[in-house]
Amino acid sequence: MRENIIYKCTECGEENYIGTKNKRTHPGRVEIKKYCPRCNKKTVHREKK
Ligand SMILES: [Zn+2]
Repeated sequence: MRENIIYKCTECGEENYIGTKNKRTHPGRVEIKKYCPRCNKKTVHREKK
């Protein structure tokens, strides 16, 4: 089962990316390193709950 999620920058709080995740393989919160245009650098983006 796939679920739509929003990735939020952990430094500025901007919601930069939308994606899906598999609940079975990622039961917890997902964290990815992505470029944030507001911070102008790569930051950790966390799944928004
Ligand atoms: Zn940011």
